[in-house]
Amino acid sequence: MRRIFAANWKMHVAPDEARAYVRTFLDRYAGMPDRTVWFFPPALSLEATAQGIAGRHDLLVGAQDIYWEPKGAFTGAVSAPLVKAAGASAVLVGHSARRHVFGESDEATGRKVRAALAEALTPVLCVGEKLDEREAGQAFAVVTRQLGAALDGLDATTLGKVVIAYEPVWAIGTGRNATPGDAAEMHRHIRAWLTSHDASHTAVLYGGSVNKGNAADLLKERELDGVLVGGASLDPEGWAALVRTGAA
Ligand code: PGA
Repeated sequence: MRRIFAANWKMHVAPDEARAYVRTFLDRYAGMPDRTVWFFPPALSLEATAQGIAGRHDLLVGAQDIYWEPKGAFTGAVSAPLVKAAGASAVLVGHSARRHVFGESDEATGRKVRAALAEALTPVLCVGEKLDEREAGQAFAVVTRQLGAALDGLDATTLGKVVIAYEPVWAIGTGRNATPGDAAEMHRHIRAWLTSHDASHTAVLYGGSVNKGNAADLLKERELDGVLVGGASLDPEGWAALVRTGAA
């Protein structure tokens, strides 16, 4: 499986900035056979980013969120068909910002996963515990609950089309990241959940303050099928360097 380097730009990078970003990134990164690079711009910049990477089959663009209805009177929302029309082939679901800033429920993540799959978009389901949950010894239980709420009822083939991103909430944007061992331990837990649902080909990414300085150590853990990166993906040169992690 190719490793996935995913860039979550959050509420940054306007369309003209996205065009300039992609030009710089393409200059610095010619592609590597063992990895793919996924960009998650704000919805407004999806089309500019998708146009910029057109023709590069190792790069793809995804949305940061969708609403589950395909169309209708849902002011301010974007749907799976809309982001697909703008060039997306994946979508983040249940990112910590959606859950903890915007109050998204476990149930909503399940609806969004299904809405993405219905449009043949790859859902990247984000899961992860908060600091108090980790300190109370509940990290595994929280992640199990989030996986079940979003994915229960999907068959093994469909689960193979989903990507999971483990992002401990206390590590996102804080500069404090899980140790490679802690990340790998949770990845094994997620992998066991998937195996118990007969799914063996689902990629599991790690996210939370990943940067050029710690990516190599994290990626030494073979449990990690890739990384989901926020802050350290905003500069195209730095991101190109991070994507080359481990290259000779
Ligand atoms: P961060 O964000 O790398 O800035 O911690 C990761 C994410 O939120 O996906």
